Amino acid sequence: MLKSLKRSAKGASVPHEKATAALATVKMEPPKHVIIPMQMHIGAPAEPIVKKGDTVMVGTLIGKAGGFVSANIHASVSGTVLEVASIRMVNGVVCKAVAIEADGNQTVDPACQPPTVNDKPSLLAAIQACGLVGVGGAGFPTHVKLAADTLDTLIINAAECEPYLTTDAREMLECSESIMAGIEMVMKQCKIPHCIIGIERNKPECIDLMCSLVREMPGVTVKPLPMRYPQGAEKTLIETCTGREVPKTAPSGKPGIPADCGCVVMNVTSISTLGKYLKTGIPLVAKRLTVEGDAIAEPKNIEVPIGTLYSDVIAACGGIKNEVELGKIIFGGPMMGGAAPSADYPVLKQNNGLLLFSRAAATLPEPEPCIRCGRCITACPMGLEPVVIAEGFAAKDMEVLQKRNVDLCVACGSCTYACPAKRPVSQNMGLAKAWYLKQLKEKAGK
Ligand code: SF4
Ligand code: SF4
Repeated sequence: MLKSLKRSAKGASVPHEKATAALATVKMEPPKHVIIPMQMHIGAPAEPIVKKGDTVMVGTLIGKAGGFVSANIHASVSGTVLEVASIRMVNGVVCKAVAIEADGNQTVDPACQPPTVNDKPSLLAAIQACGLVGVGGAGFPTHVKLAADTLDTLIINAAECEPYLTTDAREMLECSESIMAGIEMVMKQCKIPHCIIGIERNKPECIDLMCSLVREMPGVTVKPLPMRYPQGAEKTLIETCTGREVPKTAPSGKPGIPADCGCVVMNVTSISTLGKYLKTGIPLVAKRLTVEGDAIAEPKNIEVPIGTLYSDVIAACGGIKNEVELGKIIFGGPMMGGAAPSADYPVLKQNNGLLLFSRAAATLPEPEPCIRCGRCITACPMGLEPVVIAEGFAAKDMEVLQKRNVDLCVACGSCTYACPAKRPVSQNMGLAKAWYLKQLKEKAGK
């Protein structure tokens, strides 16, 4: 019964809370200093190529990709390198980082020149050079995704289904020309005949604008998506847009990826960033964030240099309201974002939101015993059974976790949202998945 439900009908009806949707992006003054980590992507960390005392400009290469699945890192401010040292990032990962004291001038490096692109290899090289990764949250290096030769459909993820976040909507309204330039170039050089721009129906202005712009673009269509979280989850989006399913296992025996069903998914801000880079030669050095929540004085959509500390972003948004006690800082959206223990962390390429909640709003109800209602199962877009997996995990039973596909969990949080007993269902799924993958690795002797 549940398996016959389409992915688009699963998930959760979360409140949208997109009060910043009409707020045009403001540009933050460069902060006094930035801290730029060398690991802002999936894959190998970049290797720093600058040292203390070096002068850098906006767009100067400061970290070289550490392999094919990796990404270049560039200075986001002009100034002087203060130090290169290890830091612990907000997700617990330890990596090298470059701290830069800004001179306030934001001088652009003259080496930033529009790339020459005339075929697929030169496009992929340009994408790798500019350090483009999935900026919607995934952080996967874009050139790796586009390297597949099985692609017939480019899907632009403009669902922005997380509550509060409105950065992708602002990208569509403010930078539509760059989006179209990016789409045109990827379709042409990668020889992808179809493109579908998927947008949740709660953004009618964006749907209208994109529809009017693609009218003269052969092969490009706009797909309004149901308002049911998580429409932006890659597999849900592919199924809703094309009716295809990403296979669990690829012919190679590896876990299936979108390319195995002919698709590649790019976030709308990622494709726009590519469009801008092709025109200006300025790599990925700044990020728009939605700063929201009941504790922030002035909610905004604000563009900040990558590496800006949350504390500086908060100050640029009027600080925490006087009468409010700050209870929680979340980087990203409330469903998939993580809690930060303090505001002393830098903004990364893949960050798109900073949510500040009062203690009252952030206090969670006490979880109650599971009543086996099955709502977590109905809500799961991946067709998983969290309640059964929880039992398998408690018994440390690898067979149950494997049979119940714990590795397919995408951490969307729909199960937690749906649970009437207020149990931390998705958090437990995360622990179960991590434990399962660790056992597999150990078994394989890695
Ligand atoms: S939704 Fe909550 S209470 Fe219901 S089965 Fe799942 S974990 Fe148990
Ligand atoms: S089990 Fe994982 S994929 Fe399914 S709803 Fe929960 S968090 Fe999302």
